[in-house]
Amino acid sequence: MNKNLATFLEKSEEKAFSKEHRKRLKFNMGKYHTKVAIGKQQFQNLEQARQLAKNIKAQTINNLPALLEEFEAKFTARGGKVIWAEDIPEAQAAISKIMEEKAAKVVVKSKSMITEEIQLNQLLENQGIEVLETDLGEFIVQVKGEAPYHIVTPAMHLSKEDIAELFHEKFQTAPDASPEALTAYVRQVLRERFTQADIGISGGNFLLADTGSMVLVENEGNGRLTTTLPKTHIAIVGIEKMLPSIEDLDLFLPLLATFGTGQNTTVYNTILSGPKQAHEVDGPEEMYIILLDNGRSDVMADEHMRESMYCIRCGSCLNNCPVYQTIGGHTYDSPYSGPIGAVISPHLKIGEFEDNVHLSQASSLCGSCTESCPVNINLHQMLLYNRSYEEAENLRPKEEQLMWRAWRTAMLNRSMMNAPRFSKNLVGNLFLSKLWGERRELPKFPKHTFNQLWKKGKV
Ligand code: SF4
Repeated sequence: MNKNLATFLEKSEEKAFSKEHRKRLKFNMGKYHTKVAIGKQQFQNLEQARQLAKNIKAQTINNLPALLEEFEAKFTARGGKVIWAEDIPEAQAAISKIMEEKAAKVVVKSKSMITEEIQLNQLLENQGIEVLETDLGEFIVQVKGEAPYHIVTPAMHLSKEDIAELFHEKFQTAPDASPEALTAYVRQVLRERFTQADIGISGGNFLLADTGSMVLVENEGNGRLTTTLPKTHIAIVGIEKMLPSIEDLDLFLPLLATFGTGQNTTVYNTILSGPKQAHEVDGPEEMYIILLDNGRSDVMADEHMRESMYCIRCGSCLNNCPVYQTIGGHTYDSPYSGPIGAVISPHLKIGEFEDNVHLSQASSLCGSCTESCPVNINLHQMLLYNRSYEEAENLRPKEEQLMWRAWRTAMLNRSMMNAPRFSKNLVGNLFLSKLWGERRELPKFPKHTFNQLWKKGKV
């Protein structure tokens, strides 16, 4: 069995049967669902808004090369620098070069999943550079030595008591400190570091072709400080984050806010169009945008997968997925978890296709992900596509392939089907009970087969 699949199964088992884990997720997801239901009321016609968003993203992706060039021309005209990175090594090399040029010692970062994708923190720490997460949730998981649990709410799996205990251990704050007191503590620590940092690194929620800008959406203000206080700002953004016009934000900002957190609009929505200009008082002296491909072009070239590049990373499909709600974010072991993670992880250059395709099997195919996506992405169809591709490429575990072959032989053989009940149950127990799972009882074969009942006219 593939090593990643074995780890996935082990972690799933642990999380699915942890009552504590389920309790916390249920509590946090419950709050999310209540807020989202209220947030959705701001749309007069939500279905129309979702379809419009999908159409705009479809047109954008169809026209992406021209829009990227338009973006680059506008952004560089204001003194910004664009770096094109084909894959993770190219992005890492570009960042390392800037770090070296600036002799950077301290970097502040705002929340961004793409920096997880390129393993930025490990890269910088290996170079002896201190990296400080400035989003509260990211700060907490960094202190805990964990990866983000969720693409929008990185510390969703922790209770306020867990965090108080963690901070007490690490920073000697009061063991029963309130969330407000802990937030104030982090604020004070971070404020000082913002002024000391040599470089600020962020992701970007959208790129705007017509103004040559990137848009940063956040609730804490740390993104603004990260991108404006240090002398150099580097933004790493996936090429699919493009929107044709600043006017498209009318639709995409409320959609992202509502489906992400249930807000009408996010607290801080910042449009950055380059470094500080001569007449401006704030902003970095230099601003770089690294446009990362890392497999995205190949995904867009595949008609079955193209839609996955419309994603605005709101996290709604995670919050509505019964599998995610059972096994949690860390189990996926990919920067992108939940249904969208299961769809794109095998195709991004974060490993081989076979390293992550098992994630597409972790779905009940209930379609809840598709139903809850603000951009109407047909996620469950793409999960099926990944599965069929895996099958066509002969990548399923050998034991399973063997089992299906045996199953097919038996199903096509009348005398095997009509074999005595006792022998069929014995074979089932010997070969299927492990696959069926030790917590479930394998169904027993009935006393009479369908064939026998048919002959007696009982069906
Ligand atoms: S696939 Fe849709 S629901 Fe899931 S994160 Fe992306 S935009 Fe949100």
